[in-house]
This record gives sequence, C-alpha cells and structure tokens, in this order.
Amino acid sequence: MAQHVAPPTANAPALPAKLPIGAIVPWAVFFGILMLVLLYFVGAEQGATSVVAGEDVHEWVHDARHLLGFPCH
Ligand SMILES: [Zn+2]
Repeated sequence: MAQHVAPPTANAPALPAKLPIGAIVPWAVFFGILMLVLLYFVGAEQGATSVVAGEDVHEWVHDARHLLGFPCH
C-alpha cells in the first residue's frame, strides 16, 4: 500500500533555528535551586538539621526518603 506524503509548503511556519541559551539559563537555575530545596526536605529535614519544628515534613516525605535511600530509622 502506497503512502502519500505531502511536500512542505512555503506557507508553513518556520521553526526557530535554535533556542537561545540566555532564555534557558534562568529557568535552569530556578529549577536547580527548587530541586535542591526539595532534596533537602526529603533527605535532611530531621533532627538537628530540621528547619520546620515537629515531624510533619518528615512524615510527608517519608516514603520518598526511603525510596532514595536516605537514612531514616
Ligand atoms: Zn523511615
């Protein structure tokens, strides 16, 4: 069975040649910091390094802590 592929037309919108690095860097830094904060709360938010008093944060991220292999109990 033959397939017909339409040739590109001149009216098709052109894609940008490449994404400018200056547009990516701020978002990469932002998400990098966000991931470090998340990693802190999952891996180290307990005991002497605790920022939030109580066990609430620890209990919320408890399964992720075990999944990632951080020491817990
Ligand atoms: Zn545990």
